[in-house]
Order: sequence, then structure tokens, then C-alpha cells
Amino acid sequence: MATIAFIGLGNMGNPMAANLVKAGHSVQGFDLLPENLKIAAENGVTVMAGATAAIKGAEVVITMLPAGRHVVSVYEDIAPKAGKDSLFIDSSTIDVESARKAHEIAKRHDLMSIDAPVSGGVGGATAGTLTFMAGGSNEAFARAEPILEPMAGRIVHCGEAGSGQAAKICNNMILGISMIGVSEAFVLAEKLGLSHQALFDVASTSSGQCWSLTSYCPVPGPVPASPANRGYKPGFAAALMLKDLKLAQEAAQTANASTPLGAHAAQLYNLFNAHGHGGDDFSAIVNFLRGIFPETTEAAAKKQKKDQI
Ligand code: NAD
Repeated sequence: MATIAFIGLGNMGNPMAANLVKAGHSVQGFDLLPENLKIAAENGVTVMAGATAAIKGAEVVITMLPAGRHVVSVYEDIAPKAGKDSLFIDSSTIDVESARKAHEIAKRHDLMSIDAPVSGGVGGATAGTLTFMAGGSNEAFARAEPILEPMAGRIVHCGEAGSGQAAKICNNMILGISMIGVSEAFVLAEKLGLSHQALFDVASTSSGQCWSLTSYCPVPGPVPASPANRGYKPGFAAALMLKDLKLAQEAAQTANASTPLGAHAAQLYNLFNAHGHGGDDFSAIVNFLRGIFPETTEAAAKKQKKDQI
């Protein structure tokens, strides 16, 4: 069992750290927010006074922070003070450039590192079923894999430094675009007098089939577990979808890749967020496409249910 420093104990970090404790690791945690430290302590994490204190004696350092600037700043602060054999794992979702910079900082101090962003949300973090997308050397990945296991359903080694972040933003660009596509189809079906169930029954077994339709259907009814059936409470918040679509656009610009639908999806989610829906599940974009976006999506969902009755 290892001594692990966990920096960033928010919505995701806290349940992830709790699963490491359950697996028998000794976890030394730090977060800027006292309320998050309180939850961590209740979960068996040893709460430390700062990031430097948290890495003392740690073989592994995991970060779960909001954005690239936080990760780079924390790495610059702690990498010079870290134990020589320690392994740095960053699981935050950040831009590819910052991810590569974080790897460089670690390398400068002779530390092994991987970027290992996740998909699966707070539910997956709590259940220990996250998908980790890892980027870094084979040697670093081999060391990281058993550490990630108690938090993971699946762990994929995607390639060299930054590849995990690249995989994450490419996947979420597909997701944003496909959710808009599926939503548009339901809105058109409504105008054509086709029921939600009929479209679902056909498209879910035809060439229109995709995860946004069959696992996360944006209208209530066909997939009972989808957020559409509970007032579009996240799930995966529209604000986080926008964050990931923006990261994909930044990466596309840097890499000179054409992603016109990704750009359009980012614009639509930007508008949706600007109308106060950042806290709704991202599948609530269906209400925006219906033109009822100024209402709260919860009210819109109720109205739609009433219309259907
Ligand atoms: P969060 O805001 O709840 O947690 C981030 C935590 O980092 C906060 O508690 C904050 O106080 C702390 N923090 C910021 N700067 C710090 C510093 N210098 N030192 C110590 N702590 C610091 O966010 P979250 O939802 O837990 O997400 C974390 C990361 O995971 C983000 O990059 C996010 O995009 C990604 N992610 C989130 C989800 C999700 O569903 N919430 C899903 C997949 C990936």
C-alpha cells in the first residue's frame, strides 16, 4: 500500500480519495476550501495544511483541479520539493498544452508523470468506476495503473504525454455534437407529429444509433435513467460540456485541425450557458433547440410532459 498525496478535493477529488482510502492506501489530502477538507477527513483522508505538507513522504501525487493554470502552478510549487522517486498523476480535465507543460515540469525534477483525465462524473467517482485516459511513458503508466485501479472501471493507455487529455477532449467533442444532433432529430420529429418513442425505437436500432440516444436520451420516456426524466438535473452539467468543447477548440486551433461542427457545438453551449443553464444537464440543450430556452429547463420539462398528456 502506498502513501498518496491528493490535491484538489472537490466534487470529484473527494470521492476518488475516499476510494483510495477504502483500498488501504494512506491518503494525505489538501484543498483550498475548508468545507471540502472536512468531508475528506470524514472519509479517512489525513488532512494537511498545504500542498507541500501533503506531498511529504508520498510516493504518488494526484491532482484533481479546475483548470490548466491551477495544475501548472501546483506542479511548479511542489515538484522541486517532491521525493525523487515519486509519481505525479494529474486527473483534472485541462488543455493539452498545460498538460504537456506539467509533464515538462515533472521531468525537469526527474519525476515520472502521467496525465489521466477521467470520464464518468461524480457518480463514477463515487462508485469507483471512472474511465481513465492516460498519457505518458510505458514505465510511468505501469506504475500508475495499480494506483488508479480502486477508482476505475477502465484504464486506457492512450500514448505519450498529453494523449490522455487529447482523448478526453476528442471524446467529449463527439458527445457534444451527437447530443445536439439527437436533440435536433427529436425536435423535428415533434413538428412532424412523430412520437418520441417511435423515433427512439427506429433510430436506436438503425444507423442513427449512438450513446446520446440510447444511454442518455434527451427527452423523457424512452430511457428512464436519463436526466430528461428528472428535470435535467446533472448528470453532466452544461457548464462542464462547454469547458470541454472550448478545450477542443483551443487544441484544434493549435494543431490546425478543422472542427467546424465542434466549433458550432461550442457556440450553442455558450449561448445555452449564457441564458443561465450552466447548471442544467447538457442534454437540456433539447429545450433550447425547441425555442423555450428562456424558461428554466425544469419548467420546460414539466410543460413538455403536460403537452404530451
Ligand atoms: P471542483 O471545483 O468541485 O473541485 C476542484 C477543487 O480544487 C476545489 O475544491 C478547489 O478548492 C480545489 N483547488 C483549486 N486550486 C487549488 C490549489 N491550488 N490547491 C488545492 N486545491 C485547489 O471540480 P470537480 O467537479 O471536482 O472537477 C475537477 C476536475 O475534474 C476538473 O478539471 C473537471 O473538468 C474534471 N471533471 C469533472 C467531472 C464532473 O462531473 N464534475 C467529470 C469529469 C472530469
